[in-house]
Amino acid sequence: SARESDGPPRRFYTPDLDTVVNNRIAMRSGLSRALERGEFSLVYQPKVDLKTWTVCGCEALLRWRSPDLGNVSPADFVPELEETGLINAIGEWVLETACRKRRLLIDRGHSKVRMAVNLSVRQIRPAFIPALIAILKRTGLEPNDIELEITESVLMKDSGEIVLLLQQLADLGVHLALDDFGTGYSSLAYIKMMPLDTIKIDRSLITDIATGAEDAEIVRAVIDMGHSMSRRIVAEGVETEQQVAHLRRLGCDEIQGYLFSRPIPGPELLKLLAGLASPS
Ligand code: C2E
Ligand code: MG
Ligand code: MG
Ligand code: MG
Repeated sequence: SARESDGPPRRFYTPDLDTVVNNRIAMRSGLSRALERGEFSLVYQPKVDLKTWTVCGCEALLRWRSPDLGNVSPADFVPELEETGLINAIGEWVLETACRKRRLLIDRGHSKVRMAVNLSVRQIRPAFIPALIAILKRTGLEPNDIELEITESVLMKDSGEIVLLLQQLADLGVHLALDDFGTGYSSLAYIKMMPLDTIKIDRSLITDIATGAEDAEIVRAVIDMGHSMSRRIVAEGVETEQQVAHLRRLGCDEIQGYLFSRPIPGPELLKLLAGLASPS
């Protein structure tokens, strides 16, 4: 089934330092050739509108299948891509692949399904803008066809250059989302100054929402203040019906999580959308 297709990735949980170091070396040399060897792929996780219970978007998530290491989690290899600078080339491959998928979705009548791509802080540099424009041109998309997810830690860097580049992206019409909100220490007052359309509340705040009164109050505050700043609110990592019911009561706009769907390959996404679209 669709839910099982993105099985558990292999992580390197080991107390043995030699093994850790050897794995890192193996990972690094593997990553440097992975793009040309076609070892990367994208899976897509739907976002669901809580009012209509329809798919209103999806997020592209990078997968790496190494011939030596098997499936490696992005939590392990993305930091390595960032450290080595490979994230720029691979990030552009991700963007172009996701844009081609968005083009296909539009052509199949699913133009309401937005496409979101995760962006590393290392990618936010002046050369990114012309690269993005070239990709949009090649794939026949407008800037507002895509959304870029930027983690909260990026904004914490408080770099004037990053804020300027985000503003340029927003001026182009690209949608910007703040990813993993609640894991850092940025205040909503700070977010107010940023050109962000969407706030994604991190899974760590959603997990206990139906049982822990405190987290529920924090999420309520984020949703209310986010709405007062005209931001759309997405809850990440939603796994239970109880969480959905709670988020609905709190007025959350969209949810994403294993309850509705795990990240799935492109063809499965199209099947899922086709199934939901047919009324019979
Ligand atoms: P993220 O952008 O916050 O993505 C959400 C992560 O939570 C994904 O993990 C997703 O599979 C997982 N997830 C979604 N729903 C649930 C749920 O209900 N329960 C649980 N337990 N987990 C859920 P994934 O795919 O392993 O990605 C981890 C992180 O790696 C991403 O976090 C993102 O920061 C980074 N990443 C993934 N793809 C890319 C990429 O193309 N570029 C960059 N720069 N980073 C990426
Ligand atoms: Mg994300
Ligand atoms: Mg996230
Ligand atoms: Mg994350």
